[in-house]
Amino acid sequence: MASELCKTISVARLEKHKNLFLNYRNLHHFPLELLKDEGLQYLERLYMKRNSLTTLPENLAQKLPNLVELYLHSNNIVVVPEAIGSLVKLQCLDLSDNALEIVCPEIGRLRALRHLRLANNQLQFLPPDLGRSRELQYVYVDNNIHLKGLPSYLYNKVVGCSGCGAPIQVSEVKLLSFSSGQLTVFLPAEVKAIGTENDRVLPLQELAMRSLHHTYHTFLKDLNFLSPISLPRSLLELLHCPLGHCHRCSEPMFTIVYPKLFPLRETPMAGLHQGRTTVSFVAYCCSAQCLQTFDLLS
Ligand SMILES: [Zn+2]
Repeated sequence: MASELCKTISVARLEKHKNLFLNYRNLHHFPLELLKDEGLQYLERLYMKRNSLTTLPENLAQKLPNLVELYLHSNNIVVVPEAIGSLVKLQCLDLSDNALEIVCPEIGRLRALRHLRLANNQLQFLPPDLGRSRELQYVYVDNNIHLKGLPSYLYNKVVGCSGCGAPIQVSEVKLLSFSSGQLTVFLPAEVKAIGTENDRVLPLQELAMRSLHHTYHTFLKDLNFLSPISLPRSLLELLHCPLGHCHRCSEPMFTIVYPKLFPLRETPMAGLHQGRTTVSFVAYCCSAQCLQTFDLLS
């Protein structure tokens, strides 16, 4: 380890610094100096952006127990260890511009977390419990081009400034749309059908997908139980990544949604979009029953 780096960390340790700046240090590994002996028990903010880290140490929470903000923007982190869930004071975690494919569910255990930045990664899905905590209000997931859905708990939180997922290349003519009053909304390309209050019976494929998902997810806890030949590949992929979860009851949806449109000016988020009165929030429900009973303000 470069002696200059050792010196910076030793000074921070001796003088009980609360902030430590290790940006632009060309670090390929988490500095051992930060983890030796007691670690840095007083450190509250650690800045390590623009290095080449690929993972984080398992004993991070033990050695840096008072971290409030952790900045790891622009590294090559592929895996975040489950131990991250033990950083009980963490309020801000920035993992933007890394190589994350999976976010461990333990991130959902961080009860103090307010800001989670995951933009520009390779995420395919997020932990279903993410956003359950009241504290978590800002989750940035822009530019994760394989991300196909968001956990239902995020529906009334800020999830980035330019949405998420790949920009849709399909022309609007091919997209399903629905209207409510003056507003017309085009639905994402994955949505194959729209349900209304009169459609009380789901299409057969949707019913089959939901019961398969229920069986494998609830009882076996592992969709990988299904062999690749037990379903056509496209359906197997769909089963792994539902197009969304019902905003009312969290039921996964695969082909059909029952949309309900709320002009944004009538929602609690209105303050975040000042002046943009044409913007609206679309709630996606799984059935005619959830459509009837969903209310944004309840
Ligand atoms: Zn539902």
